[in-house]
Amino acid sequence: MTQSISILGSTGSIGRQTLEVAEEMHLRVAAITARTGGARFEEQIRAFHPELAVLTDETAAADLRVRVADQNTKVLGGAEALLEAAALPAADTLVTAVVGTAGLRPTIAGIRAGKRIALANKETLVCAGRIVMAEAAAHRAEIVPVDSEHSAVFQCLQGIADRSEIRRILLTCSGGPFFGMPKSQIAGKKASDAIKHPNWSMGAKISVDSATLMNKGLEIIEAMRLYDLPLEKVRPVIHRQSVVHSLVELCDGAVLAQLGTPDMRLPIRYAFTWPKRGESRAEPLDLFTCGAISFSEPDRTAFPCLALAEQAAEQGGRACCVLNAANEIAVAAYLEDRIGFYDIPALVERALGAFPGAGDGTLDEILALDGSVREAVRGYLAEDKR
Ligand code: NDP
Ligand code: MG
Repeated sequence: MTQSISILGSTGSIGRQTLEVAEEMHLRVAAITARTGGARFEEQIRAFHPELAVLTDETAAADLRVRVADQNTKVLGGAEALLEAAALPAADTLVTAVVGTAGLRPTIAGIRAGKRIALANKETLVCAGRIVMAEAAAHRAEIVPVDSEHSAVFQCLQGIADRSEIRRILLTCSGGPFFGMPKSQIAGKKASDAIKHPNWSMGAKISVDSATLMNKGLEIIEAMRLYDLPLEKVRPVIHRQSVVHSLVELCDGAVLAQLGTPDMRLPIRYAFTWPKRGESRAEPLDLFTCGAISFSEPDRTAFPCLALAEQAAEQGGRACCVLNAANEIAVAAYLEDRIGFYDIPALVERALGAFPGAGDGTLDEILALDGSVREAVRGYLAEDKR
């Protein structure tokens, strides 16, 4: 039977690559969603004929409805409609490729509807990971990570049912575009410099997170939640070449790694084929030409966001929610050139100090906390402008 997928965030970097994989694998696309969508979203409707298309921006949705009136696609607008797309009965798998906490409620809706979750939206696991994993366990929903490092770990762990056999996970980190520079030089870097990633082409927010190393911090928390491990068992390691996507050290000393070309279509495809594999047209890794590979310790002084994320991970679930929400607002301000590079960790640190971080809370508590932190950080930004 043809597998059918729904994609939250189909116009983004992961969303577009997912549609390429869907085309290659002849998957049916049941629902697609975006925020404002634009011409690309209309093209996607015409190319993939989904049953449902959602734009969270109501005005954009009303406009789109007129433009695609000749299609059999139902067009809905508003954030609540994302939940409908996430739970659409026609889909087997839900790809969560929206950016930020906006993915949390739709991911839970997909889990409750029994979908396999191909999870790219890491912020969901950072702000409410234990809640999401408990929902997945209760509804027997499979969560297959799409984030390249977590897909690598997932692949290494095939056949290892006993989690106590994991000594530690080593998450590889490219170091981002400012790797090796002194703090004085990094301090002057603008968002336009930060979004030039050496090895991956990604959306704006994750590109900034990669430059600050907050991305690795978020990924540490993501791995802790996915595999129910304490902080000391999830370590970041700088690996500039992005060839080794992550490693797992086991209790007998064996270290398993997953290697491949840096191409997000590979982990996306695996989330669809797992537990099997399928032929792919992707460029294979050539070990004879890829050159030397190296590993080193990250620099937490030049990149304080990494240490802040580790601090939050140690404090508790609420602190992770605070970290994530503050970072989203700070990164948005940096992308608009309203603040400097090191204002991002400064704002996150201030928010972490202002909100209690212990415990996990309920979903409603986490959503309320997320809103309060955003409001507080917007307040800090307004103070700085005066
Ligand atoms: P992009 O910014 O490229 O795309 C985001 C998508 O989500 C777009 O379709 C956008 O719609 C939509 N969107 C944005 N904000 C909202 C919102 N508030 N409500 C509903 N829809 C929204 O992001 P990426 O594809 O780079 O990243 C997506 C997720 O995947 C992130 O969580 C990221 O951390 C993760 N990830 C990404 C990787 C990558 O290589 N890009 C690698 C690993 C993980 P519109 O176009 O209309 O704005
Ligand atoms: Mg990653």
